Order: sequence, then C-alpha cells, then structure tokens
Amino acid sequence: MKILVAVKRVVDYNVKVRVKSDGSDVDIANVKMSMNPFDEIAVEEAVRLKEAGKATEIVAVSLGVKQCEETLRTALAMGADRAIHVETDAVLQPLAVAKLLKALVDKEQAQLIILGKQAIDDDANQTGQMLAALMNAPQGTFASKVEIAGEKVSVTREIDGGLETVSLSLPAVITTDLRLNEPRYVKLPNIMAAKKKPLDKISPADLGVDPAPRLKVLKVSEPITRSAGIKVSSVAELVAKLKNEAKVI
Ligand code: AMP
Repeated sequence: MKILVAVKRVVDYNVKVRVKSDGSDVDIANVKMSMNPFDEIAVEEAVRLKEAGKATEIVAVSLGVKQCEETLRTALAMGADRAIHVETDAVLQPLAVAKLLKALVDKEQAQLIILGKQAIDDDANQTGQMLAALMNAPQGTFASKVEIAGEKVSVTREIDGGLETVSLSLPAVITTDLRLNEPRYVKLPNIMAAKKKPLDKISPADLGVDPAPRLKVLKVSEPITRSAGIKVSSVAELVAKLKNEAKVI
C-alpha cells in the first residue's frame, strides 16, 4: 500500500503573527516557518503504518514556494521514502490544493492519503474533505486512531459527542487530529540521510491544474482586544453588575 502524505509549510505555532499595516494579509516576512503540526502527525502515522508492515512506500507532498523543500526534508527525515514538491508562487487555496493532490494521487496510484485536519495558518479544515469528494473516495476526518484491516481502514474519529468509528474501503482519505499520535523527534543521522532521499519537482501546469484563487480576501484585521476581567465578592454583586453596568439581564 502506497501512502501519500500532504505537508504544508506554515508559520511556526510559537510565532505571534502580526497583520500587515495595509490590512491585506498576515505579515510572514522574516518569521519562523515549520511543518503544520497536524501534518507532522500525518507523517508519523504513515511511518508507523510502514514500520508495522502495513505500507510499502510513503510519498510526502508539499505545494508552494521553493522553501517547501525544507518541510519535505523534515518529512523525509521522519521516515518518508521520497518527496514531491509542486512548486509555485501562486496563493494556494484549499480547492486548488485538493485538485493538485487529486492529480498526484492519480499519477502515483496512492491507496491512502493522509492530511492534517487543518492548516494552522488559514484554519480552513477543507482540503481533505475536498480531496475525498474529487476522488469520489471515502473519508475519515479528525482521526484519533487508524487501523488497517485487509482492504479496509478503520478510523476512530473525534466528534462533538465523543468517538465514532468508520470503516473505509481503499483508496481513502484520512485527516489527523491531535490525539492520533505523538510525532517522533528527528535525530541528526536521519536529517543527514534525508538529504540523499529523492525530491522531485513538478509544476501545477504539469498536473494540468489552474491553481488561481477562487476566493478574494477583503481585509485582515487583529481580533478586538478584550478588557481585563474583575472579581466580584458575592453573587448579589455579580447580579447587580450584570443588571446595572453590563445591562445584560
Ligand atoms: P486546510 O484545509 O487548509 O486547513 O488544510 C488541511 C490539510 O491539507 C493540511 O493539514 C495539509 O495536510 C493539507 N494542505 C493544505 N495546503 C497544503 C499545501 N500547500 N501543501 C501541502 N499540503 C497542504
């Protein structure tokens, strides 16, 4: 079974992002970038499946600017066998990413596609679902447990009311939730070895996809700052404040 894992280069989760002064976007100049945390979980899961003898090959895929190569090298150091970089300077929205991934799935004949449940930059939570729709394949989103059983994959999903287990026939799409696993720490020898693993480049045009954005960002702004809270000494005081000051009751 060949696994395709999608890894996105995003602003590191420790960075407090700022909005550009013209309100057109978030400022990512000179900001630390890393692999999307949910995608690290996706790579880890693929590597564990391979280590358990359930997968034969792991192909890591990243779409975007030249520096996505670094993200792919991290995936290779974690245990992916080879990488594909769909290189473009275009702004990529989830539908374009899903179309490009669909073209790669067809090309690679991958059986299992693992993505993060969401990218922490756009927080869209759309790509996996769109990819499954384009492939007309089953999807197990927000996975907290994945088990391969013959031609099927069983996925336990984190949903509002608790856990749900679905059985998917392959090819299938999985998106990872936080509790699926804890990604391994990448050791130096693995980083060195990853430099020798194959990394192929391809363009959206090679895949026959027009990645032009379909959505227009009108404005990006900081969230409204909240004023500090206060402590009240009694329920009576709380009720009085809600009535007379906040005027909500
Ligand atoms: P989103 O729908 O944007 O929240 O992203 C969900 C998941 O889709 C991410 O966690 C990645 O696995 C994948 N993905 C989105 N954009 C890209 C990209 N440019 N390159 C690789 N994977 C991506």
